[in-house]
Amino acid sequence: MSAIGFFGGTFDPIHFAHLRLAEEVADAFQLQQVRLVPTSVPPHRDQPKASPEHRLAMTRLAVAGNPRLGVDARELGRAGISYTVDTLTEVRSELGSAPLGLLMGADAFVALTTWHRWTELFDLAHIIVARRPGFPLDKLASALPGPLHEQYAKRLETQAEAFKAAPAGKLFTHELTALDVSATALRDLILRKASLRYLLPDQVIAYIDEHHLYREPDAS
Ligand code: ATP
Repeated sequence: MSAIGFFGGTFDPIHFAHLRLAEEVADAFQLQQVRLVPTSVPPHRDQPKASPEHRLAMTRLAVAGNPRLGVDARELGRAGISYTVDTLTEVRSELGSAPLGLLMGADAFVALTTWHRWTELFDLAHIIVARRPGFPLDKLASALPGPLHEQYAKRLETQAEAFKAAPAGKLFTHELTALDVSATALRDLILRKASLRYLLPDQVIAYIDEHHLYREPDAS
């Protein structure tokens, strides 16, 4: 049965660490496709600097030409806060019992208990946690708050083959190629008029240029 991955983010802007995460996880778990889901009003953090339309356009440019990566714009069409649990509930009703993976970096996973109805996420999907510089997987367990550690211990699977054996409910990790890129650092480079080359796709750099994105310092 074909397995699908979902990878949410502000993508403000999208960069090569996001794309490698999607591509490597697709490879490792033999996913038919990973769909990138730009978030409109992320509940856990500051508002994105670029508009939803710009972030969607950059995400689409970044995956163009790679059939294994797609973009799911449904959170941008929904009013109010985007909750992953709502997105995955919709997706699950579309996919039937196909294996579904929710992808995230280890920094995001450590904060999972702050997500709306977070325990229900495991009823809807497997979670795949990728290493991020500063968040090594061998220290992941010790960084988790109690209730999440309990879920981690109960659900962790070390064999990627287990992914397709059930539609949801397991936890996997992936030793992603370490790329210490962050959207915050990229926005700083833009403010300093420094080169962005080789940190994100050329088409996205051209789009940022053309639309004069990220040129205003944060108000905060
Ligand atoms: P910011 O710098 O504003 O925090 P970001 O680069 O972390 O942005 P997000 O859109 O917030 O980008 O991240 C979306 C997802 O991508 C999250 O699950 C995050 O953990 C993951 N991610 C982002 N950068 C990396 C990276 N360098 N390595 C691994 N995972 C990453």
